[in-house]
Amino acid sequence: MIVVMKKGCSRDKIQAAREKVIELGYLPHMIEGVERTVIAAVGDERGKSMAKETLEQQPGVEKVILVLEPFKLASKEFKPERTAVSVNGIEVGGQRISVIAGPCSVESREQIIEVATRVKEAGAQFLRGGAYKPRTSPFAFQGLEEEGLKLLVEARERTGLPIVTEIMSPTDVHLFEEYSDVIQVGARNVQNFALLKALGKVKRPVLLKRGLSTTIQEFLLCAEYILAGGNENVILCERGIRTFETATRNTLDLNAVPVLASKTHLPIIVDPSHGTGYWRWVAPMAKAAVACGADGLIIEVHNQPEKALSDGGQSLKPEKFATLMGELRRFAEAAGRTL
Ligand code: PEP
Ligand code: MN
Repeated sequence: MIVVMKKGCSRDKIQAAREKVIELGYLPHMIEGVERTVIAAVGDERGKSMAKETLEQQPGVEKVILVLEPFKLASKEFKPERTAVSVNGIEVGGQRISVIAGPCSVESREQIIEVATRVKEAGAQFLRGGAYKPRTSPFAFQGLEEEGLKLLVEARERTGLPIVTEIMSPTDVHLFEEYSDVIQVGARNVQNFALLKALGKVKRPVLLKRGLSTTIQEFLLCAEYILAGGNENVILCERGIRTFETATRNTLDLNAVPVLASKTHLPIIVDPSHGTGYWRWVAPMAKAAVACGADGLIIEVHNQPEKALSDGGQSLKPEKFATLMGELRRFAEAAGRTL
């Protein structure tokens, strides 16, 4: 429910309304505007029409609006204007299309510095690179772990690019708070609720990837876990879903971009690398993502894709990435954005 207080309503009345919200079994999130305060009362609203009436009778309350969607803080009903998540002063979800680029995995100092330098030259705003890798096989390269995080920090020091890197376990949160700028939750962990709850408590923005078989509603409920914990900086990422099609690694569900934008204020980015699984299809789908309203892209780039320890087949060489960046500028312009 959204409890809209009257313009210029006194502190005491706002406090009393907040307490009533708690008494009725909801969690209050205070949104203090210039003219008035709004209380987002978060909880299950089914069969609670009495709560609405009680709050409407509370002094200082102008109106109470029911939020029909099961996700609350993520919904446009709660916050109609789009959210821009700020990462070290760079906005994701603003006018400019955000491009995050880098290798699937951090493999060595030379590799990550080389790729970071090249993607920066091409105009990327963020560096990606996995240090903890969720691999289908336990015998595949699992990542350099903390050593990988330290190499990412070196690459950030060299290039100034903020780093986006994937977390797998709630027990590693302190490491990611120390080293990363954006914490990525991968497709396989999107419904790891212990992890989502832990990330609700951190200050770092979270890039949340859609799962292989997560519906849009489930995806938004995953984001809700982080928001409800108190972390308002969530970036959603469509990265392809599993379908009957086997010609591509996944089916990039670009429908999700406008559908999500109709339901949530959170920024939405697209991963055409995992979405297709093959470097040739990355550029056309990156352009399509910008055309359908994505706020950004996350793209895998490797200096030697043929030798990559993970996802080489879907990684662009730095020169191909630079060409794509040049081509994307015109798509961004057509979509009323900059790059
Ligand atoms: C990745 O970004 O390298 C990755 C593992 O992505 P996803 O979780 O989307 O598979
Ligand atoms: Mn990858």
